Amino acid sequence: MANIGFIGLGNMGLPMAINLVKAGHAVTGFDLSSVAKEAAQDAGLSIVNEMIAVTKDAEIVVSMLPNGAIAKSVVQEILPDMADGSLLIDCSTIDVSSAREIHEMAEKSNKLCLDAPVSGGVGGATAGTLTFMVGGSDEAFAKASNALDIMGQKAVHCGDGGSGQGAKICNNMLLGISMIGAGEAFALAEKLGLDRGKLFDVISTSSGSCWSVNTYCPVPDVGPKSPADNNYEPGFAASLMLKDLGLAMEAARDAGASTPLGKHATDIYNQMSELDHGDKDFSAVINLLSKLD
Ligand code: NAD
Repeated sequence: MANIGFIGLGNMGLPMAINLVKAGHAVTGFDLSSVAKEAAQDAGLSIVNEMIAVTKDAEIVVSMLPNGAIAKSVVQEILPDMADGSLLIDCSTIDVSSAREIHEMAEKSNKLCLDAPVSGGVGGATAGTLTFMVGGSDEAFAKASNALDIMGQKAVHCGDGGSGQGAKICNNMLLGISMIGAGEAFALAEKLGLDRGKLFDVISTSSGSCWSVNTYCPVPDVGPKSPADNNYEPGFAASLMLKDLGLAMEAARDAGASTPLGKHATDIYNQMSELDHGDKDFSAVINLLSKLD
């Protein structure tokens, strides 16, 4: 069992850290917020007040932070205190260029490093069923495998440093677009007087089938239970979708890729946020679409 430091004990980080403890690892946690610290202590996690106390004896440090600027500043601060050859796993969802900079900093400092953003949300973090999209060396991936297996059900080694973040934003850009498509189809069907249950039966077994319809249908009372059945409580909040689309648009600009639907989807989720619906599940975009005509 390893000594693991965990930085960022918010909605996602805390349940991930708890799963590492339950599996028998010695986990020491740090967070800036007193609310997060208290919640972590209540959950039985060992909490320290100085970041150095998390890193100095850690074989692995996991970070789960809000954005690239914060992740970079935390990594810059902890690298000198981490032992040579120890491993940093940054699970935050951040921009590809910050992820690459973190890899460069770690390499210069003789530390192993992975970018390992997740899919699966708070439910997946709690159940230990996250999917990790991982970028970094084979050596780092091998060293992380036990911790990733505990916190998730699948870890895909996507390639070199930054490729985990790249895979995550490509997936989420597609998801954001496809949910708008699903919303448009069900909103049109309603105007045409179609029964939504019948439409679900057709689409879910036809060429339009996709996760946004089959698993996470944006209308209530059809298909598996989804946020639509619970007044669009997230799930995956529209504000988080907007964040990931912003990262995708930034990466597309840097790479010179053409993403017209990604851009349009960003504008639509942005409208949701401007209407103060950013805290609703992203599938509530159907309610905006229904009102657009
Ligand atoms: P959160 O805001 O609940 O948690 C972030 C934590 O980081 C907070 O407790 C905050 O106090 C702490 N923090 C901020 N700056 C810090 C610093 N300098 N040092 C130490 N701690 C610091 O956010 P979350 O929902 O847990 O998301 C974390 C990451 O996971 C984000 O990058 C998010 O995009 C990604 N993510 C979230 C979800 C989700 O459903 N919530 C799903 C997939 C990915």
